[in-house]
Amino acid sequence: MSTKSRILYTKPSITEREVEYATDAAANGWGAHCYDYINRFEAAFRSHLGVKHAIATSSCTGALHMGLAALGVGPGDEVILADTNWIASTAPITYLGATPVFVDVDPVSWCINPANARAAITPRTKAIIAVHIYGNLCNLDDLMDLGREYGIPVIEDAAEAIGSEWHGARAGSIGAFGTFSFHGTKTVTTGEGGMFVTNDDDLYEKVLTLSNHGRARGQTKQFWPDKVGFKYKMSNIQAAIGCAQMERIDDLIARKRTIFAAYRQLLGGMNGLTLNPEPEGTINGYWMPTAVFASNTGVTRERLQEAFAAENIDARVFFWPLSSLPPFTAKPENTVAYDLPGRAINLPSYHDLTEGEIERVCAVLKGMQS
Ligand SMILES: *Cc1c(COP(=O)(O)O)cnc(C)c1O
Repeated sequence: MSTKSRILYTKPSITEREVEYATDAAANGWGAHCYDYINRFEAAFRSHLGVKHAIATSSCTGALHMGLAALGVGPGDEVILADTNWIASTAPITYLGATPVFVDVDPVSWCINPANARAAITPRTKAIIAVHIYGNLCNLDDLMDLGREYGIPVIEDAAEAIGSEWHGARAGSIGAFGTFSFHGTKTVTTGEGGMFVTNDDDLYEKVLTLSNHGRARGQTKQFWPDKVGFKYKMSNIQAAIGCAQMERIDDLIARKRTIFAAYRQLLGGMNGLTLNPEPEGTINGYWMPTAVFASNTGVTRERLQEAFAAENIDARVFFWPLSSLPPFTAKPENTVAYDLPGRAINLPSYHDLTEGEIERVCAVLKGMQS
């Protein structure tokens, strides 16, 4: 049993400011003021991202559910996404009675491979979800071209991509709509929470109505929904924490990048190990630094987990292919998605991680090949 202090893999960065705003919301944010922090949080997020519209939600899952519903996704439809993902990105497809189509990922970005997405298009394809995994960007040029060619909307699940930029545009601002998560593990947190963003006025109005239990904003009759909508709202207290985080967002992103740079520097000389890529013209927000060992190193997930556990470090496994999980049907032909988790590990990256802790993590990785 290690006597070394525990290194967690994520935890939020909370200062006096978050506590002060949340306290103010709890004490005063009621009645006429019950939306003050929500409105402020949405405005701050719009401005950070450079988008026209933003709707705060209780989760990213809820934001995706409403966005897909607004696009008309329903029974008989197919939605294409990468096999390498967390279930939250695909569950809303199932909620709507549509079918997720899992395609293989690119070996370098670990994100959806546009060629595989193209090959999976059928007359039933209703949308493509581009998930920027661990902060790494999907190839948005190829995906947006593909979407235009077939008239299929490309959606960005940018929950892991706060701080990531594709040729000058922030992740989440490019697709038909973007979604974000403010779960406690994410770069910006409200505890639980999410955001729907879009530049499309029509889509915004549809999601706004859906998000308000189907009540259109022009409806003057009280308690009069025009359709059955959803209840995925963020509370004013959560939004208060979000407002404080948005005032610190540049620092929160910078810290993630500094932590990654430290990993890269300490691990740079290691043969057979790759970390998250940052291709020319892009910026990676590095939500989750991830180490992938080459097949010929013989380093396995099991050995990595054992070595980190022995050092009292909370490192997490790379996402299993969604198609390998019990609710779905296996697609081992997605060879990259099936191969990656066997030789990869997520590294700790919370904002308060110290240099000494980063060195402890790197020492474990360096010890794998000796
Ligand atoms: C965290 C995450 C989600 C889920 O977010 P919730 O707010 O927990 O619903 C969805 N997609 C991706 C890519 C995530 O990383």
